[in-house]
Amino acid sequence: MTFSIEFDVLLLDIEGTITPIDFVRNTLFPFARCHVRAFVEQNHDEPSVQEDLEHLKIQCLTDIANGLTPPRWQGASHDIAAIETYVHWLMDQDRKVAPLKSLQGKVWKFGYESGVLRGRVFEDVLPALQRLQYQKKPIYLFSSGSVLAQQLLITHSERGDLSQYISGYFDTNTGSKGEPQSYETIAATIGVKSSNVLFISDAIIELDAATTIGMQVLMARRFGNVEQGESSYLRIESFHSLELSMP
Ligand SMILES: [Mg+2]
Repeated sequence: MTFSIEFDVLLLDIEGTITPIDFVRNTLFPFARCHVRAFVEQNHDEPSVQEDLEHLKIQCLTDIANGLTPPRWQGASHDIAAIETYVHWLMDQDRKVAPLKSLQGKVWKFGYESGVLRGRVFEDVLPALQRLQYQKKPIYLFSSGSVLAQQLLITHSERGDLSQYISGYFDTNTGSKGEPQSYETIAATIGVKSSNVLFISDAIIELDAATTIGMQVLMARRFGNVEQGESSYLRIESFHSLELSMP
């Protein structure tokens, strides 16, 4: 099935849409888990790392105040074993707290820049980006991964540096991916009418939110995605089937 849709701006989710979920779950997260200790040991005196550790300490105290039972850490920034244990504890619970995401981003940056990590994207993504650039259609990303994590994945992808195709990045600092207001903010920031944006994602809750404010949407159905419930959204299994209308 081929989709012919008229739009001015393409907004893409990452995980489960342009990147296999497996890469995020089975490569990126284990990498951060495995290397966080060595990274903190080696970069302990960096002011930005110190800042993350300070915020992690506050997070740990907040967790305790909220009745959670994080592993014991007295808050000393030199107690790296305890920091590692706390970070692992946060990751085990799939917490998305800012200092964890910030520290993970730095560990991934080290991984990408040293060439150990390469961002994975589906094989049909690059040709689609090239077609869109040729047609002068700006492409933006909206992911719950931080802007830094998005930029790293795109810049150090297996298919080369794709950043030339991306006009901008949005993360949850813009708002939750399940909230219509976030999509409103994105359209306003780009300076485009909502109805002229095509948003593609694998998550129904995100498509619902974007549809609420009038964006056009398609549902990505990729290998390895979690099967979503029933919905009336048109599904796309490859960007090859996205035939882009010429203006
Ligand atoms: Mg997704």
